[in-house]
Amino acid sequence: MYINLPSNNHYRRPASYASKGYHSRRMAVDFAVPLITNVKNAKLLAEALVRKLPLDVSNVDAKSSHLTHTFPGLINIGAFVPGLSVPGSQDLITSTAANLSGGFNTVIFSPVGVNGGIVDRQSLEQARSNVSGHGHCSYAFTICATAANVGLMDDELQAEVKALFVPTSTPLSVIASHFSAWSSEKVILTDAKGSALASILLLASLHGRTVHVSDVRTLEDLLLISLSKAKHLKVTCDVSVYSLFFTAEQFPGVQVLPTAEVQKVLWQQLDVIDAFSVGANPYLLASTLGKPASVCSGVEETLPLLLTAVSEQKLTLDDVRRRMYDNPMKIFSISDQHVTSIEVVIGRRVKYNVHPSCWSPVLQVSGETHRVVVHGQTAFLDGSLFSIQNGRDISGSVIAHAVPATTNKDDHATLPPIMSLVAQPGTPHDQYDLASHVLHIQPHPAFHRRHILSVKQFSQKDIYDLFAIANEMRFQVEKNGGVDILKGKVLCTIFYEPSTRTSSSFDAAMKRCGGQVVQIAAETSSVQKGETLEDTIRTLACYGDAVVIRHPAVGSAQEAAKCSPIPVINAGDGIGEHPTQALLDVYTIRSELGTVNGRTITLLGDLKNGRTVHSLVSLLCLYSVRLNFVAPSLLAMPSNVVSAARKAGIPVTICESLDEVLADTDVLYVTRVQKERFQSEAEWLLVKDAYRINHAVLSRAKEDMIVMHPLPRVNGEFERVCLKSFI
Ligand code: ASP
Repeated sequence: MYINLPSNNHYRRPASYASKGYHSRRMAVDFAVPLITNVKNAKLLAEALVRKLPLDVSNVDAKSSHLTHTFPGLINIGAFVPGLSVPGSQDLITSTAANLSGGFNTVIFSPVGVNGGIVDRQSLEQARSNVSGHGHCSYAFTICATAANVGLMDDELQAEVKALFVPTSTPLSVIASHFSAWSSEKVILTDAKGSALASILLLASLHGRTVHVSDVRTLEDLLLISLSKAKHLKVTCDVSVYSLFFTAEQFPGVQVLPTAEVQKVLWQQLDVIDAFSVGANPYLLASTLGKPASVCSGVEETLPLLLTAVSEQKLTLDDVRRRMYDNPMKIFSISDQHVTSIEVVIGRRVKYNVHPSCWSPVLQVSGETHRVVVHGQTAFLDGSLFSIQNGRDISGSVIAHAVPATTNKDDHATLPPIMSLVAQPGTPHDQYDLASHVLHIQPHPAFHRRHILSVKQFSQKDIYDLFAIANEMRFQVEKNGGVDILKGKVLCTIFYEPSTRTSSSFDAAMKRCGGQVVQIAAETSSVQKGETLEDTIRTLACYGDAVVIRHPAVGSAQEAAKCSPIPVINAGDGIGEHPTQALLDVYTIRSELGTVNGRTITLLGDLKNGRTVHSLVSLLCLYSVRLNFVAPSLLAMPSNVVSAARKAGIPVTICESLDEVLADTDVLYVTRVQKERFQSEAEWLLVKDAYRINHAVLSRAKEDMIVMHPLPRVNGEFERVCLKSFI
């Protein structure tokens, strides 16, 4: 133990000066010697030693008088952006920055701006381009219903926004037309009040639509909503946080706040309110009072105000979480953002730091946002924003629901969990030191006894879980050569197309997990005698616990799965998909670069026929990445893959020249021009040497760019350069 008390720097030494005391304390830290630098603590320790008090060291590093709490990433369900669709406006970018600093990692933009809003494809595209590639947090757009745009709401436009907003002034006939045209899967929002709200709720019940009412601030509306809920109508509502903390009496002449009496009832009837919102009220309050108002108005105050209510015991932390995370996720079908959290401090009374661009009625708060972590990285800490602006447009994203896990024990006996990596009871693992890692893993609903046919079946959470196991397995193989969790299991593999890496990787993986493999080569099997795929698969299912299939026809793995009583794993279906390759590719990017989020990934070569790139793009859509597709027009990425990426909010650049995108690329994924997929050799000859990676190309790339190729490399895509990863 070392006790050293730093001096108060009375000598006014330069900042660069390091005293001997500092050096000795630094050494104590570096050599993990317990160190006391505080005189009170030193005295307490001395006293404890004299009194012979127990000196057990607790595993708590620090204690403070205020409470800290971690929320999952919170959602701002109605951000008002004045210059939403004004060409060149920075408002959307500023809004995402303010939201992240305010503890929100997802923001849903109201479609109403000051000079025009989002009403059609053109205004949506304009808003998108105003923020694209510069968002600090995830964001989603909504579209405003007007008399003019009823006929414009086609499926594609609906798919690209999170919700339809019906303003309070909309005529009933227009609302009725929108209700019948709007997708039943997406919520309809409204700020309607009084009789207009009653009409909308009636239409919603007639059309079976889900309606969310924003900014409830009258007793009549609250009553109407609670009666509708009692009748099981699909209706939810939010209240603006300003309505809970400020009243019309405090700001005479202002229309956007409730009276003190109504506010009291809002607090009493919180159970009717599903969500808390920021909304336009803070902006409108400031501008009505002639004070500076901006896109940031109200955003950074919201969480501190709610935390103040928590410290005054008017709310619980759970009340806040439910209304700013759980319920908004359900109402807007937002998927969970992985490794994203907001750390807050409650009970520390501080003067509220007003955002420089706007006025705020908030003076003092008892809570603040301490840290915002997005995808595992600190993006905001103690008032400073560190975001790398990789916020994604999640307007078109849908939740990937996990398939419920089977709990039937008998099923377990007949269908072994080949993909679950779950130890069977009684399996001896001790010699592999797996107990603390693999044994406790429960059957995973996304993998346990599932066919693995397409990467689209996985959510980001599934992949995260899979990679955690993959890391552990990698470690076990390096340490012990393998484990025996698949002892007694047999994997059948059948390849109708050539394979080196995929077939041997399944073979090796099975063997390293203690299982056995039956390999069938289609060219020497009964396939040559004309046996159908169905019969082959049914036969293999009699011998194996799972079957791996590679076949030249797109959809063949799905066909095999239809007739297979055991799990089928797609090892490549023609130019369709190659899910396991894509999983490995994303795992490789993560291992090599530390994180996938924020990376620019360039796919080069035969993007039309390369199944690995089709699967890879689908998987990368679950991350915040930028994608470049570089190919000659003959081999361009299929349009369905491109539009799926764009719908997932991924910025996509399509070009024919690698030089256009090389300088920004973090991962260069090169593919083979697939001769076997061409109608004629002449066509193949035209494009076979379209790209060549050599030192000259690499010298123009980022120093830490990685190059990947799924192999085989045959057309001279590379000129004496090394590869980072392949399967
Ligand atoms: N090995 C990869 C596949 O099977 C890529 C290729 O064949 O070029 O799809």
